[in-house]
Amino acid sequence: MCAPYAIIFAPIFIAQAVAIVIKIGYEILGDKIFETWSCYSNGIDTKDGEKIHCGICESCINRRRAFRKVSIDDKTEYANH
Ligand SMILES: [Zn+2]
Repeated sequence: MCAPYAIIFAPIFIAQAVAIVIKIGYEILGDKIFETWSCYSNGIDTKDGEKIHCGICESCINRRRAFRKVSIDDKTEYANH
């Protein structure tokens, strides 16, 4: 099940397309979609040694906007809110 991962990474997709992909991805993956990676950075290290999304790069912004657009509660952890 790698298609949603590949598509979410593609920078040429506009917000509308990302939203559609997220909606379909969520229907297929459920909460596992929050384990996908969109951030252009290598991630921000947390105190627990985990990597989380920066929350401020173009890709993170598109991701957040897309979840809002399709009314899915975004459970992704972002370093910046
Ligand atoms: Zn980011």
